[in-house]
Amino acid sequence: MRIAVAGTGYVGLITGICLAEMGHHVVCTDVREEKIQLLKTGRSPIFEPGLEPMLKHNMSNGRLDFTTNPRTAYKNAEIIFIAVGTPENEDGTANLDYIHAAAYTIGVSIENDVIVCTKSTVPVGTNEKIKEIIQSVKPPPLQAIVVSNPEFLREGTGIIDFFNGDRIVIGTESREAASIMEKMYLPLKIPIMKTDTRSAEMIKYASNAFLATKISFINEIAAICEKVGANIEEVAYGIGKDKRIGPHFLQTGIGYGGSCFPKDTKALVQIAGNVKHKFELLESVIKVNYRQQALAVLKAKEILGSLKDKRVALLGLAFKPDTDDVREAASLTIAKALKDEGAMVIAYDPAAIANARKVLGDTIEYTMDIQLAIENTDAAIIATEWDQIKHFPLEIYAEKMKSPIIIDGRNCYSLQDLSSHPITYISIGRPSIK
Ligand code: NAD
Repeated sequence: MRIAVAGTGYVGLITGICLAEMGHHVVCTDVREEKIQLLKTGRSPIFEPGLEPMLKHNMSNGRLDFTTNPRTAYKNAEIIFIAVGTPENEDGTANLDYIHAAAYTIGVSIENDVIVCTKSTVPVGTNEKIKEIIQSVKPPPLQAIVVSNPEFLREGTGIIDFFNGDRIVIGTESREAASIMEKMYLPLKIPIMKTDTRSAEMIKYASNAFLATKISFINEIAAICEKVGANIEEVAYGIGKDKRIGPHFLQTGIGYGGSCFPKDTKALVQIAGNVKHKFELLESVIKVNYRQQALAVLKAKEILGSLKDKRVALLGLAFKPDTDDVREAASLTIAKALKDEGAMVIAYDPAAIANARKVLGDTIEYTMDIQLAIENTDAAIIATEWDQIKHFPLEIYAEKMKSPIIIDGRNCYSLQDLSSHPITYISIGRPSIK
């Protein structure tokens, strides 16, 4: 099929490249000239495992192209995916400016009937608005049929998730569009759920809200474990063995971050508020997460007293491993809090330094070498469970740090491993080793 994708961010680019890999002819477009120029040279503007080779492969076989000209992208497309950002407004609502602009441009550019398929996470009713905007510039008989097709991929495993998702949700009132979408996705052999547009839009927010709830729930249990002398890892394992609960998303830590959970939970509180429903449970989930992101620095102060002029290594800047994305990452909150306390911060990350620098500037030091990061420091705070950090030998902390204190915000090490090292080790929901 001839497919266009609006937005070459994490979702749009992964989707576009994977659709080309499936054999479709894909043109991706973005308003950011520098991204398209880079992509045209076969390089990816985002760090995502496996993406660049697949990008190059599909460009060379002629199935994948990039342009800043929306008319070129949309003119002959049978399906146009909208994958532009929906960041949060100051009041927590979803900012739909990019969505509305993309819809308008689609309206201006299309010359044939087309399916417009929204991958971006958008509040209930947005797809109706998209249709309205397109029709305002291209009224019938030209048909733009709108489909909600929310995206569930995770950064860092985006390609695997595209080809092995748990389900594909197709929300539309058009049977014809639903069956075209179904046919397009059929080779993936992923269960397809067809539903109405509004339910599809809601499924995405409800999924993210539920996952965030699991995380805040286990973080609450971890806080209690610390006080009553239980071990959260044993507790989470015991809970997760129950098939009704399952083992996933029961890892405690210093909170969720990223470009989705924080903004989508807040947006759902607002969506509920718009229909006069106070979503108290989700409000608490959000509150718990703020508390959790502040935990590492609190623990550092408990053990070191004042942090003024202390040298602290911050291990991990990305909001999760295998991505360069730092949006709403716990590391940013930690870096700012450490600076406010007067500490000197040296941060390690294998992929996210450039993005972190855009937010934190030169207020902290950066290195891509863990050993350099921890050298001569008073404490090390682990903020991201990168493999490089998880497998970093404990004896080097003991050898290189001024005072070997690890505050492990992701429970990367087993307590057993720690027992043979002269290290003060504070983790989340587990007994401390001093
Ligand atoms: P992103 O910020 O990485 O990328 C958005 C891209 O859209 C940018 O490159 C931007 O320049 C481009 N853009 C903006 N306006 C445009 C326009 N009018 N035409 C063409 N391009 C335009 O965002 P993302 O992380 O890929 O997320 C996109 C959407 O998908 C969001 O709604 C997000 O909530 C949702 N989502 C994201 C993830 C994720 O893991 N990142 C997962 C599932 C769903």
